[in-house]
Amino acid sequence: MAVPKKKVSPSRRGMRRSHHALSANAHQECSNCGELKRPHHVCSHCGHYDGREVIAAEKAGGVVRN
Ligand SMILES: [Zn+2]
Repeated sequence: MAVPKKKVSPSRRGMRRSHHALSANAHQECSNCGELKRPHHVCSHCGHYDGREVIAAEKAGGVVRN
């Protein structure tokens, strides 16, 4: 089994973890119903995309509930 040669210092560990923060998902208001939806995705609330209904609106929601 490969074993690290040196103990990683707290400074180096922190530098590595400086990229670990999660950012909030992008969102914008649906132009049809005003619910928040992900950009370039069909609205999970009303099923509209680009000003027209693409899929029938789901009542029990899709994967993204924002
Ligand atoms: Zn919508």
